Amino acid sequence: MAKEYYPTIGLEIHAELKTQTKMFCNSKNDPEESRPNVNICAVCLGHPGTLPTVNKEAVLHVIKVGLAVGGKIADYSEFDRKNYFYPDIPKGYQISQYKYPLVEGGELSDVALTRVHLEEDTAQSFHKEGEEENFSLVDFNRAGVPLMELVTEPVIKSATQAKYFAQELQLLLKYLGASDANMEKGEMRVEANVSISTDPKILGKKVEVKNLNSFRAVEDAINFELARHKVLLEEGKEVIQETRGWNEDKGETFSQRRKEESHDYRYFPDPDIPKLTLKEVKEFDLEELRIGLPELPSAKRDRLERRYGLKREDIELYVQDTTVGNFFESVSTLLTDAEQIKLGSNYIASDLVGLMNTGNADTHIKPVDFAQLVMMITRGEVSSRGAKDILKIMHDTGGTPKAIAEEHELFQESNEEALLSVVNKIISENQTVVADYHAGKTAALQFLVGQCMKATKGSANPGILQQIIKKTLSKEV
Ligand code: ADP
Ligand code: MG
Repeated sequence: MAKEYYPTIGLEIHAELKTQTKMFCNSKNDPEESRPNVNICAVCLGHPGTLPTVNKEAVLHVIKVGLAVGGKIADYSEFDRKNYFYPDIPKGYQISQYKYPLVEGGELSDVALTRVHLEEDTAQSFHKEGEEENFSLVDFNRAGVPLMELVTEPVIKSATQAKYFAQELQLLLKYLGASDANMEKGEMRVEANVSISTDPKILGKKVEVKNLNSFRAVEDAINFELARHKVLLEEGKEVIQETRGWNEDKGETFSQRRKEESHDYRYFPDPDIPKLTLKEVKEFDLEELRIGLPELPSAKRDRLERRYGLKREDIELYVQDTTVGNFFESVSTLLTDAEQIKLGSNYIASDLVGLMNTGNADTHIKPVDFAQLVMMITRGEVSSRGAKDILKIMHDTGGTPKAIAEEHELFQESNEEALLSVVNKIISENQTVVADYHAGKTAALQFLVGQCMKATKGSANPGILQQIIKKTLSKEV
């Protein structure tokens, strides 16, 4: 009998926070600096006898994240030493938070969170292995950069859900201005704990996969592990609890080391760092911070749906790309009619974004001119073809749609009187076609519309032309 397998995933996600200076010293926080070892000082180099001081800006970012996910913000917090030896951690320990994280609980995208805490990033090592030279280099620019760690409960059920969660967290961090969270740049790093069980009430043995530096890697590595565990269980073997790495090229995980237990790190409170009584810091007034939070992605989705009834893809575009989203919102305030707003959204999501992706990434279009164009379309003054041409010119060089339509003769003639004389002329010149029309040939009508379009050099509104031709011919009989 085929057994059911229940996958479980818990994520540990690190994000470098955007602050002026590092977590415990005044060195510049700039992981993008390409020259090695310039943003350094005695504190982040781990010289003995130096005293770390806590960066308020970093604490503030984590509190905001905690408020945004509805977690419990600590009244009291402290920093611990996590002891281990490695060249990228010169003190012999990393300053982290163990017993008293800044945030406990909370939820994001229906995933329960365990905690969010603050620690310091490590230095970066570079290993050179060659025929003649064999050495390692350490760059301390990143050492001591404030790092937020968010841990989820083991409640995620699939690789796709895990990837989605990580994407939502990235979006949230960007909205809060806490981190750019670019995975390719290592500003956000994901570790996935993966297990499989045959009993939904019991969790299986977990494996932790590290070095996941793209959303694709998160999804692929989890799927790889789930498949590997399943094979092991089917063969009656056990999953070994360990840490594994992800080989992007091979699309496989590989064993790195047997998992250490937390007691191996001999955590203890850092005696050099003052304890934090958050209530006593006026910048950490939770009510004020809550009020000051920006509109968050989930709230924005709901509002765009409720207020404008936009398509899901359009909503997602505006939530993900706030430049385009803000443009849409500016245009929508200038339009009164719900249908006009939806039409405007269509032109933004397909045509304008198309122009931004293929040419100029920054548009020259002012929201007021864009709104004007939408009104011209709904009044039938320009055709959809003409609107696209106008849009391209506006995007490339700016200008008002009226002036561009005039200059390039893109106005569509909808004035019935003006069109009537053209229709009469075409009808008198095409009497055999008119006879066909009366004989019931529908193609004849299209032919006459086409002739009128030609006579007006494409400036006529074809829908109105058709109405006038029909009306005129019905009077003839
Ligand atoms: P450790 O002590 O090994 O670090 P934790 O209990 O602190 O383990 O959990 C670390 C991460 O692993 C969390 O994200 C948690 O949700 C996840 N996790 C714990 N147990 C499991 C499991 N059996 N399967 C999948 N993920 C798990
Ligand atoms: Mg842990």
